[in-house]
Amino acid sequence: MKTQIFKIDSDNIDNTVICKAADIIKSGGLVAFPTETVYGLGGDGLNAEAASKIYLAKGRPSDNPLILHISSFDELKPLVKKIPESARRLAREFWPGPLTMVFEKSDIVPKEISGGLNTVAIRYPENKIALEFISACKTPIAAPSANTSGRPSPTRASHVEFDLSGKIDMIIDGGACEFGLESTIVDVSLDVPILLRPGAITLEMLREVLGRVDVDKAVLSKLEDGEKPKAPGMKYTHYSPSADVIIVRGDREKMVDKINQLISEDDKSKNIGVIATEENKDKYKDCKVLVIGSVKNPQLIAANLFKMLRKCDYYKIDKVFAEGLCEDELGLAIMNRLKKAAGYCIIDV
Ligand code: AMP
Ligand code: MG
Repeated sequence: MKTQIFKIDSDNIDNTVICKAADIIKSGGLVAFPTETVYGLGGDGLNAEAASKIYLAKGRPSDNPLILHISSFDELKPLVKKIPESARRLAREFWPGPLTMVFEKSDIVPKEISGGLNTVAIRYPENKIALEFISACKTPIAAPSANTSGRPSPTRASHVEFDLSGKIDMIIDGGACEFGLESTIVDVSLDVPILLRPGAITLEMLREVLGRVDVDKAVLSKLEDGEKPKAPGMKYTHYSPSADVIIVRGDREKMVDKINQLISEDDKSKNIGVIATEENKDKYKDCKVLVIGSVKNPQLIAANLFKMLRKCDYYKIDKVFAEGLCEDELGLAIMNRLKKAAGYCIIDV
């Protein structure tokens, strides 16, 4: 299959491209599109066959459900059994935006979309191109991140092209994604809402609106063998470059010393990298330094994280040390992705 790629300017959206994309969706095909979080791999969310094409293109396990994307609040109602008050309040604050909510699903949502669960995850994004595209399709768009399963999520059209070219019908190139981490996921189908995946809408922001919000165990640490996560995606390896990723965490000065010590003790034939903050970038010796951004600007670090993990492959790095960050606010989401990329290999100093 030849993958068509079209560039779109979000301030001057070319409607002929949107119509072409919508036609592909209506005939059961797949279109990758930009959102404010990461690029999504879209298919018709009410078509079980389109869902199976998504799983196939990504190499994604079929029990890892997809998120349905809508382009207005009114499109939510037919997809869910009920809209709890907590969901209305979160929607009022954060929709459209980088927040996904899990509801009891209605019968029109195919089991193939929800990974066999009785719940469905729904997001109303705010990216202008995404909204035009979803609205033109006149169906909810099922979309996981547009990467090969297990690889870092795509934050640029070139990442999608690298992973999925030849496997999908079309890529809409809308430039770099604003937030660069996948959406926050909250299960609102329960009496006490639970954070299943941290993101740009932080736990602190959710609690400000709802009061009590619990945090699923898998957000912070690795699950024990046999433990079942509430977001099925959390049990799979994620975000990994080919390099071994090791997080070094703690006092920022000791962290630099520890990383330099580990580099000096390592096998000299290995290509070693460090994912470093702007503040520390000149302090590392005998390695490739990838600068992720300043500790004073967590938004930029979030937006750069997946690009840095992909760069490790580009530079053929064998082992990469990553500076740990404080796990509050956006840091919770950044460290959640980094820990998964590292397979929870963390050195505390
Ligand atoms: P991705 O589409 O790659 O961003 O992954 C979607 C994430 O949403 C995965 O971690 C899924 O497990 C999670 N998810 C989707 N639907 C549900 C659901 N009904 N209940 C819990 N988690 C879900
Ligand atoms: Mg994903």
